[in-house]
Amino acid sequence: MAMTNKDLLTRRDRALPRGAATSHPVFVQRAEGSELWDVEGQHYVDFASGIAVNNTGNLHPKVVEAIQHQLTQYAHIGFPVVSCEPYVQLCERLNVLAPIENAKSVLFTTGAEATENAVKVARFHTGRQGVVTFTGSFHGRTQLALAMTGKVLPLRSGVTPSQAGIFQVPFPIPHHGTSEEESLRALDHLFRASIAPDQVAAIVIEPVQGEGGFYQASKPFLQRLRTICDQYGICLVVDEVQSGFGRTGKFFAVEHADIEPDLICVGKAMGGGLPLAGLIGRAEVIDGPPPGFLGGTFAGNPLACAAANAVLDVIESEQLLQRATQIGERIQAFLADLKNSSDSTVLPIGDIRALGAMVAFEIVTERGSNTPDAEATKRVATTARELGLLLLPCGYYGNTIRVSTPLNINDDILEIGLSRLALAMKA
Ligand code: PMP
Repeated sequence: MAMTNKDLLTRRDRALPRGAATSHPVFVQRAEGSELWDVEGQHYVDFASGIAVNNTGNLHPKVVEAIQHQLTQYAHIGFPVVSCEPYVQLCERLNVLAPIENAKSVLFTTGAEATENAVKVARFHTGRQGVVTFTGSFHGRTQLALAMTGKVLPLRSGVTPSQAGIFQVPFPIPHHGTSEEESLRALDHLFRASIAPDQVAAIVIEPVQGEGGFYQASKPFLQRLRTICDQYGICLVVDEVQSGFGRTGKFFAVEHADIEPDLICVGKAMGGGLPLAGLIGRAEVIDGPPPGFLGGTFAGNPLACAAANAVLDVIESEQLLQRATQIGERIQAFLADLKNSSDSTVLPIGDIRALGAMVAFEIVTERGSNTPDAEATKRVATTARELGLLLLPCGYYGNTIRVSTPLNINDDILEIGLSRLALAMKA
């Protein structure tokens, strides 16, 4: 008998804890490029990309070929035991791509490991413990990464992380009441009231917040953070797990700010669908810790490295940085039209923002206001899914819909997705 989403959900709910939640009650049968089909044959356009992972789409032929080739050689070696060339090649390429003068890289399996290891490395380098992060940030679900993460519900529910030395300052979101000046003033207060800057190992920031709502740290703001870090000998860590690998139209979002961070966390899209993350750093910083300090059993898995090297080839050969910018412009224009539509049944749209293909918009209670409507936002995601469009809401205020299409989505599928989004906005 054919499987249904409902039957599978029942099995799922029996077998899994509710904490392992899924946004949509859908079981995938097949996915290719920017499209998915569920076990009931329903078609979906993918505006979620498995949370910004499928920048090169699902099952890109070049990525599949690279994995298949790797499978004829070896699947796992354990990098702490013996080395393999695909790992080294990937690091060589990351070192060239990163906006860091003299870079070295190390690989992990998940983004949380990358952010935690950034802190470890910064603490080792500086001999200090303090870490400053931002409200609305997301750095992972493990204990230290969770302590760095700036959102209570549902991430930190009931488990106020007890990591010492982690402090948060407000991320600047001017239209929700926090200007860049206020954010910097909060940092100044933190340095006066809570921790001296010479006790801070790292300031960790997402140049464009992912889960927090695609809010952008401006070029002057990031430059100011760079200056503050230089002034006090603090490591500037950029978490590009979500914003990296071409999504913003540059390889790394931080390149838009023309600054050199000390450490860059990467993950998600790097592995072309296989679990892979990494830390790129200024050699002087990342090369300090002794042998054995960095790594893990599965860190830099050969299949994932082979896939990642193919992802880099595809980004280059298909000019996906330029494509990211084009996609972003098209989606922004579509959203601006929707926002200004004379059709009063369209839900009110507030702020629309984009850096390359990292596009988001807010749903608000009424036209012209900035008051978040988180309930309507959830409804839009549900309606969109019923119409065959996978969307992922996010945001500090729960009212942001992010658009994370594969960067190689073709125009026809993009337009089908946008037309379904237009219908879903008439909820
Ligand atoms: N940092 C950022 C910016 C992220 O968006 C995420 C995941 N959403 C992480 C870290 C954690 O990555 P992972 O889920 O692979 O541990």
